[in-house]
Amino acid sequence: MKYCSYCGQNLRLKTLLDGSKEKYCSKCDHVFFDTSSPAVIVAVTNTNRILLTRSVGWVHPYWGLIAGHVKSGESAENAAIREVQEEVGLELFDLQLLKTYPLNNQNLLMIGFKAKTQQMHIEKSKELKNAAWFQLSGPLPLRPNSIASQVVDASQK
Ligand SMILES: [Zn+2]
Repeated sequence: MKYCSYCGQNLRLKTLLDGSKEKYCSKCDHVFFDTSSPAVIVAVTNTNRILLTRSVGWVHPYWGLIAGHVKSGESAENAAIREVQEEVGLELFDLQLLKTYPLNNQNLLMIGFKAKTQQMHIEKSKELKNAAWFQLSGPLPLRPNSIASQVVDASQK
């Protein structure tokens, strides 16, 4: 953000009492805090299998987890359930919050969940190129140290 959303004046950095530097409009005397958007990422398992997906357009060889933005007015829990329903058509139970992961370069706060399903049949949305079950015991095709990889590790503890 470069300009004041009330008056359009250029913002400048102001040092606050706690020492942090934030964007400030001197005309409106208003501080604009940089905030991150919440997004959910969900490790869905069925007994000893985990659901991995690849989005349309990915050029790297790795797979990932179901993820998506939390809509305005929506809880993160409902976003997790909705995203899984929309992307693969699976019904969840035992949804649990794991950890949150800030992605500063994208202004995203990823909220990691794990959940179980009793279903196996995947109804893949058009956003996904692939969606499939993988054995949890085997090596998973996740990018090392990625958020998806960290969420899967956390889900198995
Ligand atoms: Zn202003």
